[in-house]
Amino acid sequence: MAAESNVTERALAAVTEQPVVAADLRIGGDDKRTRFVVDLNRKIDLAAFALADPYRVVIDLPQVTFKFSAKAAEQKRGLVKAFRYGLIMQGGSRIVIDTKGPVRIEKAFVLDATDNQPARLVLDLAATDRTSFLHAITLENRSARSVAAKPVDVPPKADGDPRPLVVLDPGHGGIDTGTRGSGGELEKDIVLTFAQTLRGQLEGSGKYRVAMTRSDDTFIPLSERVRFARARNAGLFISIHADALPRNEGQAEGATVYTLSETASDAEAARLAEAENKADVIAGVDLTTEPDDVANILVDLAQRETKTFSMQFARTVVDELKTAARLHKHPLKSAGFKVLLAPDVPSVLVELGYMSTKDDLKQLNSATWRARSAQALVKAVDAFFTPKVAGTGGGRH
Ligand SMILES: [Zn+2]
Repeated sequence: MAAESNVTERALAAVTEQPVVAADLRIGGDDKRTRFVVDLNRKIDLAAFALADPYRVVIDLPQVTFKFSAKAAEQKRGLVKAFRYGLIMQGGSRIVIDTKGPVRIEKAFVLDATDNQPARLVLDLAATDRTSFLHAITLENRSARSVAAKPVDVPPKADGDPRPLVVLDPGHGGIDTGTRGSGGELEKDIVLTFAQTLRGQLEGSGKYRVAMTRSDDTFIPLSERVRFARARNAGLFISIHADALPRNEGQAEGATVYTLSETASDAEAARLAEAENKADVIAGVDLTTEPDDVANILVDLAQRETKTFSMQFARTVVDELKTAARLHKHPLKSAGFKVLLAPDVPSVLVELGYMSTKDDLKQLNSATWRARSAQALVKAVDAFFTPKVAGTGGGRH
């Protein structure tokens, strides 16, 4: 039991804005009308809006600590098919509800606490048809949905530092947890820890500048990750993930290195790219407001040279990882990953292993394995940036 703070401390906490805690939630109603209620420790502002394809309702909140029990978090009822919650940006949290079909947000508000009730977030949803739904979202939601379109921060100048910049991109984050291991391990945590290890080793070599698309548990849209690397003139972009197979799709093990291609190299690569490309949908980002520079990048001619460099690096990663980690039986694959779309930055996506495979998960959780695999990646980065003998192509600077 946490000790009750005394009256003075409580008064002080109120002045300095106590953190917002969401302690419990309830869903009531049926397929026509559904009410979604979250208990809060104090009143806050919210913005709610709906998105199509797939149908979702997004509730944007100030930063909230979610303390739902596992049972509370698994509820589904009426129009609510599933929901998730978490950080969407520094200072901002989000709840995303997958709905059974098109819905109308009838009410979205926060009630003050009363004598016997905590403050409550109340969301009332009503079933509607697709035409009315689409009409409503174009009219009503413009102002509410700006949150995810976080402006790109101004990249730090290299200050004349001639060392190449390696951008590490730990997948997922915040509300988007990625895949899940049998012990409740989350992909977003595993890949962040790995990226931090790799960053330490790359910086330790003294040969590279390193930047990370995220260094905490925050959600970053896929296009933002691409923009991050481009804006900084990165010499190399390494996206880090850990895959999982659906329960009935057999076993697979080991690391796989992916590059970008318009046609997937095989069915598994296609499935994986589709899953990874869903990150924005999972977090409730409205893709209709995305600038189309990223969407049209595939036709860019500069991409051809970049693709060659990406392939070279991917092959080197496979060669180096071979000695340090288990590899998938087909360790080099390609598919249409959105996060690899930078036309001018050689980019690969490394799936470290399978969260759904016991032995892989054990490795993913091991500091020794992490250090060894990161070392292999550093060697691959070294090979990539080391000028080759004239005539052999070689890496980039
Ligand atoms: Zn992933």
